Amino acid sequence: MDFHDALAYAKEQNRLLTKRYGLEEDRMRILAQTVKLSEEVGELANEVLASQGLQRHEKLAATEKGNVAKEMADVVFVTMLLADTFGVDLEEALSEKIETIKIRRA
Ligand SMILES: [Mg+2]
Repeated sequence: MDFHDALAYAKEQNRLLTKRYGLEEDRMRILAQTVKLSEEVGELANEVLASQGLQRHEKLAATEKGNVAKEMADVVFVTMLLADTFGVDLEEALSEKIETIKIRRA
């Protein structure tokens, strides 16, 4: 699946999740998705810490190899949902960001 296809899938899921959670009001959906993004970033941080042996033994026992990648995907996917809600073209925004970095590094 390429980035464009992933964005299209996120757009479709955003429509379904909006109905499931009764988040038809943009403002509420934006807030809910921002909180969800924070949750996913926290989960990624936990997995990164665990992967480096920097968590308590109880938490380390519950971690599996590959969870860092799964949590990275969660962060990207929720960002795609939020971008769709905002009407942000994430592909274009990412492309512009990369160009900005290239110019800065030149
Ligand atoms: Mg997660």
